[in-house]
Amino acid sequence: MLDRAYMLLPKEALNKERFEMPDMQSHIQGKKTIVGNFAQVLKAIHREERHILKYLAKETATSAVLSEGKLLLNSKFTRDQVNKFFHAYITQYVLCHECLKPDTKFVEQQGIKMMKCDACGALSPVKRV
Ligand SMILES: [Zn+2]
Repeated sequence: MLDRAYMLLPKEALNKERFEMPDMQSHIQGKKTIVGNFAQVLKAIHREERHILKYLAKETATSAVLSEGKLLLNSKFTRDQVNKFFHAYITQYVLCHECLKPDTKFVEQQGIKMMKCDACGALSPVKRV
């Protein structure tokens, strides 16, 4: 099985380094958690802010809003917790489920949201947030 998977991977994919997960730089202020570098990490993963805000709000069971380019979570989270949520998002919605490359985008096929990988061409269903 493993040998077969290896053979099917394009050569290019094997030479590239593993995607380095960006980290959210968060701090707690009062009863909120603020992510100062949200705009930068968003750029690194090429996803709509609306989509990730919805995901974070659901996963953290609080509200996630943008304020002057910063992300505000309406509860206290350590930086480790914030990045655990964020990295779970990347694993599920950014990295290709087949080759683990971040060169993916969302496409619609017959009304169903799918994630298409530009590196290997794989198409994976996108779980609704
Ligand atoms: Zn792929």
